[in-house]
Amino acid sequence: MSTMRSSNDHSVGNLLIRNARIWTRPGAPISQPRDVWVRNGRIEAIESSLDPSEGVPELDVNGRVVTAGFWNCHVHLTEPVWRGTSIEARRRQQDALDDMLSSRGFSSVVDLASPPHTTSSLIHQIETGRLRGPGVVTAGVGILPQRGTPFYIKADVPWFLRWKLPKPATASGARRAVAAQVRGGAGVVKLFTGSYVTPDRVKPMRHDVARAAVTEAHRHGLRVFAHTSDKAGTEVAIEAGVDALAHVPDSAEGTVPLLEDAARRGIRVVPTLHMFAATVRTDDDYLQPLYESLRSFVGAGGRVLFGTDVGYMRDRDTRGEFQAMEHSGLSVDDILRSLTVEPAEFFGDETAGTVEVTNRADLTVLDCSTNSPAGSDLADVHATIRSGEVIWQRT
Ligand SMILES: [Zn+2]
Repeated sequence: MSTMRSSNDHSVGNLLIRNARIWTRPGAPISQPRDVWVRNGRIEAIESSLDPSEGVPELDVNGRVVTAGFWNCHVHLTEPVWRGTSIEARRRQQDALDDMLSSRGFSSVVDLASPPHTTSSLIHQIETGRLRGPGVVTAGVGILPQRGTPFYIKADVPWFLRWKLPKPATASGARRAVAAQVRGGAGVVKLFTGSYVTPDRVKPMRHDVARAAVTEAHRHGLRVFAHTSDKAGTEVAIEAGVDALAHVPDSAEGTVPLLEDAARRGIRVVPTLHMFAATVRTDDDYLQPLYESLRSFVGAGGRVLFGTDVGYMRDRDTRGEFQAMEHSGLSVDDILRSLTVEPAEFFGDETAGTVEVTNRADLTVLDCSTNSPAGSDLADVHATIRSGEVIWQRT
């Protein structure tokens, strides 16, 4: 999946990080304070004390805990703030990048559908250093079932653009749709294998259409995320061989055996549990089955990718998602794994996911200095570093 990381090759930061208590990987003990020497965007040395070097900026984190940079595997760059390239627009975009992503510790994000022209412009602004922000991989627009536009995007997308959204009716149409996404710069593919066409009706994608789309995406080396919604949409996704579910199915009835099957097949799940509470309903009848779905998936050995659906969901705080994951029985190490090691492995990014010499210096500095952080400590970030460059720091 080498296409995946192209957006992270840009910056060659040099940095000396002082007094970092390093949480190398989930399950590892947190170290005594160490100095971390970053050269050309990579971790060159981790020692109890390092000499300063002329011209190299220093960041003293005063004994705070440092983990590998976090990933958010489900965001949307759809808000009006991302439009425009004027100085004024850029100032607003910097504030939004900081508040939505960098201040939450994300050095990499996966945009699971947004208007491609504004997103490619934003990525360009970040990669050329006009904006400071995480590496962004985008799905471009999502691929829908025939006549399957989700009801909730009808308000955001004008009718004259809606007809342009890919809604292939045949396998060959699906292959063309994926190829067009790839040409447009997509680094992942998003399929709506089950689309809420009204608040209480899900339209599934045809099996042959889904299968053709997945085969074509894999031919291009791209991972496929499916929005499944219910049992039928989840069956289509599993049968088509998608790589990840973009949410737990929120019409949960009958989905637990399917999620256990998905776990055995190595299909990942991005839970987005807090999004359901924040945008749909908060009663236990609705939420408990979602927590149980994640619990069953993990119990069957399922691997989790962290993601919040921020951008669609307006709440930018990550605390709610960490709490919901704990509620489903995940430990703080499990949550850290979903933020770091799992996404790095999923995207075949061998130089990320842990804090080790030779790895890329994508790092998240937590605002805590304890030996045993709780899940909620992952929501309090002090600084975010991408390829050795401090992209955000609490002031
Ligand atoms: Zn979403």
